[in-house]
Amino acid sequence: MRRYRSGKIVSTIGPASCSPENLERLFLNGVDVFRLNFSHGSHEGHAQVYEAIRAIGKKHNCHPTILADMQGPKLRVGTFENDKIILESGDIFRFDLDPTPGNTQRVNLPHPEILEALQVGTTLLLDDGKLRFEVLSCRPDYAEVKVLVGGPLSNRKGVNVPHVMLPIPALTEKDKKDLDFALKLGVDWVALSFVQSAKDVEQAKHIINGKAGVVSKLEKPLAIKALEPIVEISDAIMVARGDLGVEMDPEEVPSIQRRIINTCHRMGRPVIVATQMLESMITSPSPTRAEVSDVATAVYSGADATMLSAESASGQYPFEAVSMMSRVIKKTESDPYCVRRLEDDTQLPQKTVIDAICSAAKNAAEFSGATAIALFTDSFESIVRCSRMRPLCPIVLITDSEILANKAGLCNGVYAVCSKKEFDCEAMCKTAKVLTAEHQFANVGDNIVVLNDISERSVTICKL
Ligand code: PGA
Ligand code: MN
Repeated sequence: MRRYRSGKIVSTIGPASCSPENLERLFLNGVDVFRLNFSHGSHEGHAQVYEAIRAIGKKHNCHPTILADMQGPKLRVGTFENDKIILESGDIFRFDLDPTPGNTQRVNLPHPEILEALQVGTTLLLDDGKLRFEVLSCRPDYAEVKVLVGGPLSNRKGVNVPHVMLPIPALTEKDKKDLDFALKLGVDWVALSFVQSAKDVEQAKHIINGKAGVVSKLEKPLAIKALEPIVEISDAIMVARGDLGVEMDPEEVPSIQRRIINTCHRMGRPVIVATQMLESMITSPSPTRAEVSDVATAVYSGADATMLSAESASGQYPFEAVSMMSRVIKKTESDPYCVRRLEDDTQLPQKTVIDAICSAAKNAAEFSGATAIALFTDSFESIVRCSRMRPLCPIVLITDSEILANKAGLCNGVYAVCSKKEFDCEAMCKTAKVLTAEHQFANVGDNIVVLNDISERSVTICKL
């Protein structure tokens, strides 16, 4: 189904949205990429959602994209004798390896590798950063800490250790099983949580072995320090503002978001802005003005996609949240300032053959007033290079690879159609005319640009 916007919507699936009827409603309201969150749900549940999404694609003759998000090494404390304690600022407390329930003096931290990585002065954050501790002394089996910011602490709350390289891989044993399962299902993208370095991505890519694209979630200060090498080795990036905002001061996040988006543009990697975009719509049918502005800001700065988390997974208004996000993207993209800003930013072609022909296609489309660029290619790289230039009209990808068509849905401005391969220019123009008309991208009398990356690299303008 044709969308009248370029920015894509990623929507997390959960109890509020996982039935086949609800998935179809999400799709009809504008979801382009469905996110299966492996921090929650069963394999059986994810498989049912997967099959339902593929069925929606078949029914509507299009290619919704499926992203499997791995939980990653989520660090947690153990339990307490009375389920909960209250800590005051200035208290002295201990994290240790003793699995017995904790009290106001101590609690289990069942991760010896964290204890090993701690140093005197290291900051530990608990419960999404609500509590803050400073390490006073550390031994292999316990760390003594001072409470800097106190409050209630209950069973199994999450632990963040910002700025410290933890000797743990981005894929845990659970993740490896989940990954194996997701790849067997046939997901298009896999997201890696808590990436610390390019090496983490490299190791995961080795296991994934080209069966899906890799989205690195940037949610640690260390990952921001290694931004360029991580972007380079990843196939796409997520600005994971939830955990990023816990591990860094919140006022750091907006400028980091800009930096990540610009780096992704320069290097040609799709980028998703995620978390709390329409947060209040979890419980309210309309968003705050600040949230609307946040989505618009992501569009203005040129993100490929914006994401809904709890809003669509467990909120009360999942369909309204998708429609609202779609409206905000459309309206923002229609602002001439939005187009201008994107043009003078980071889309300049690099000195490569593929950028030369993508840039020629973009110019040809502009000068001829084309309503679409029909892109014939077998290569995801060509799709990304073309999308990265942000042409004014949509890119209709024509490919015989279902896998490529499904994967392309994450890229800004790209709409995929499957069709048998054509090799000569005349046959390509004919197919492009038929398919762009069929999918409502062109009418009789409109110009389209045909960009052929398969037989001979060429750019042609043709009229319907
Ligand atoms: P999560 O990742 O929702 O899986 O935690 C996104 C984020 O941290 O922003
Ligand atoms: Mn996260």
